Amino acid sequence: MRVKCLIIGSGPAGYTAAIYASRANLAPVLIEGPQLGGQLTTTTEVENFPGYPDGVEPFTMMDDMRRQAERFGTQFVSGIVTKVEFAPNPSPLTPHRVWVEDTDLYEADAVIIATGASAKYLGLESERTYRGRGVSACATCDGFFYRKKTVAVVGGGDTACEEANYLAGLCEKVYMIVRKPYLRASAVMQERVLNNPKIEVLFEHNTLQLTGEGKVQGADLIYRKGEPDEEQRHIAIDGFFLAIGHHPNTELFKDYIARDAEGYIITHDNSTQCYQPVTGNLSPVTPLPGIFAAGDCADPHYRQAVVAAGSGAKAAIEADKYIKSL
Ligand SMILES: Cc1cc2nc3c(=O)[nH]c(=O)nc-3n(C[C@H](O)[C@H](O)[C@H](O)COP(=O)(O)OP(=O)(O)OC[C@H]3O[C@@H](n4cnc5c(N)ncnc54)[C@H](O)[C@@H]3O)c2cc1C
Repeated sequence: MRVKCLIIGSGPAGYTAAIYASRANLAPVLIEGPQLGGQLTTTTEVENFPGYPDGVEPFTMMDDMRRQAERFGTQFVSGIVTKVEFAPNPSPLTPHRVWVEDTDLYEADAVIIATGASAKYLGLESERTYRGRGVSACATCDGFFYRKKTVAVVGGGDTACEEANYLAGLCEKVYMIVRKPYLRASAVMQERVLNNPKIEVLFEHNTLQLTGEGKVQGADLIYRKGEPDEEQRHIAIDGFFLAIGHHPNTELFKDYIARDAEGYIITHDNSTQCYQPVTGNLSPVTPLPGIFAAGDCADPHYRQAVVAAGSGAKAAIEADKYIKSL
């Protein structure tokens, strides 16, 4: 199938790009991917997306975005992109190529990548049981629900320290569960955490399981003082925040576009334009015409739905300008 604009991903970035691209008459096709509606569908309520003064159930919000894109003519395809071949010097005769489920080939003048980034979890069964009921991977998003309560943050890097400090501004008490006998964060972040009277760092602790009646009420931990010397303990908590990193869903594009060491797509200068990869420590400078990235797959910093939606709008505006220049 030959299209002007192909969008990969059905989260806030992909749907917003679809609204803008369809209103610009680009007749976009959007590939929904493995998680219809994106990451937000793993939480229970969204209170910080503008336009919903009483908060909104995430499935409703994502369905609203989808219907808005549909109204202007976006075509949705259920399936996963499994292979791409981006043309280094694309033209209407040599377009970019994208395969869905290995079989269906789409040829496009412009491709907007909006594949998001998945939060890393510990992999405990109880973590899955309580997801959205005390387990969260986003303090900025869900911290407000735990005002004056006790929470735990898992992780010992900069993000974990940042999240612990943020939560300490809202909560009664914050435990930090750190696997190692030290924090990996920068000196200044460590200092902030260690000097905050609301934060208690539990070094050399691992989580065994979460407990509670229908929601998180506690965590069983194991304290390893050096093998075989270990001790189990229980902490009473209302929330359990993962801060052990994210995995950008960009592996598929690695041969064609520049990514940073963690896999986030590199864009420059307030644009969503993608660049060709370079080897070594050089900064990517050669644009890959017609390939744009929006949302969390290119954003290691903010990871918020409204920011992802904003960058989706930017990507569609840039794709439109590019297509009109062909
Ligand atoms: C528990 C939790 C709670 C959150 N709460 C809030 C909140 O209250 N407010 C807020 O602003 N933000 C919140 N966030 C963050 C928000 O969900 C993200 O910032 C936002 O969803 C990013 O949007 P995105 O479109 O970039 O990516 P995503 O929402 O991650 O969507 C990525 C899309 O790409 C698709 N995809 C992936 N790989 C492929 C492939 N190979 N082929 C085709 N499609 C593919 C997926 O199916 C998915 O549809 C929360 C996040 C989490 C994890």
